[in-house]
Amino acid sequence: MIIIMSNDFTPDNLSDINKRLDDGGLQGKQIEGTEKTVIAVVGNVYPELRDEMSRMPGVSSVVRISKPYKLSSRETKQEDTIVDLPFNVSVGGNQFVVMAGPCSIESREQLFETAASVKAAGAHVLRGGAFKPRSSPYSFRGLGEEGLKLLFEAREEFNMPVITEVLSVRDVDLVAQYSDVLQIGARNMQNFILLDEVGKTGKPVMLKRALSGSIEEWLLASEYILSQDNPNVILCERGIRTFEKATRNTLDLGAIALVKQLSHLPVISDPSHGTGLWDLVEPMSLASIAVGADGLMIEVHPNPELALSDGPQSLKLDTFNNLMGVASNLAKVVGKPMAELPS
Ligand code: PEP
Ligand code: MN
Repeated sequence: MIIIMSNDFTPDNLSDINKRLDDGGLQGKQIEGTEKTVIAVVGNVYPELRDEMSRMPGVSSVVRISKPYKLSSRETKQEDTIVDLPFNVSVGGNQFVVMAGPCSIESREQLFETAASVKAAGAHVLRGGAFKPRSSPYSFRGLGEEGLKLLFEAREEFNMPVITEVLSVRDVDLVAQYSDVLQIGARNMQNFILLDEVGKTGKPVMLKRALSGSIEEWLLASEYILSQDNPNVILCERGIRTFEKATRNTLDLGAIALVKQLSHLPVISDPSHGTGLWDLVEPMSLASIAVGADGLMIEVHPNPELALSDGPQSLKLDTFNNLMGVASNLAKVVGKPMAELPS
């Protein structure tokens, strides 16, 4: 349930409510909206308690949340969540953001050349993988901490926030030292202990949808992070596995539109992994903008033929630059113009 506070509630009202919830073995999470303060209560709430809470001083009304996901639901919070990053970049709301960079960080030259180019083209966040989930253990698995150091150097050099994947609980503290956003990859969407741990860092987390993750499972996964008192969750649709083999995955555009209705969390689209084919990245980026995505994550490489991972889906530097031109025009048309550049 959510408890909607009246406009003139007092701190004493809040502590009485929390005490009553505590006595009932429940926990309330306070959510500050621009207009109202609400307390989201998760757990088994019986109807009598709901009635009792609705009569407590300072309470305006009590509403039952029908969905199994509570903290991520629009029923709990109507306004869009905006996740603030360093360098004056925010994700969500009425602005569009673009995250771009190589699938894997391969060398200083490769990362810096890509970073300079995507920054000049108007990207807001630099991506680059240091711990890579690969289907085969014999494929390139990333530079590890050396890659994180290069990413942090590029952050300082180009003044833009960075995002990279954390694959395991083992590396959460390490990755959190270097990266502004912790990416949870598709393969880890339901690694619940990892979700708890990234939640505890308080850092922004981008949660990718699993290869076979339903929308409900994806939003329930986000609850693990949110319930660690970390409201900074960004969702990322990266394509799901279907019977279709012509594309690497099937970018689920309907899911983007639906999740924007069901949840207040920002949704980023990743047409690179969503299609696996570089020449589908532009059309699917535009389609993502049209269905209401809050941003894009795009893989870019100075020389995709030589990339150590995901070359076939990576854009060349000039192709990315062209995409940014077309994407900004459409973003304006749909009323979510490109955010200001990082500063
Ligand atoms: C990635 O972004 O590099 C990645 C591995 O993505 P996903 O988890 O969506 O496969
Ligand atoms: Mn990749």
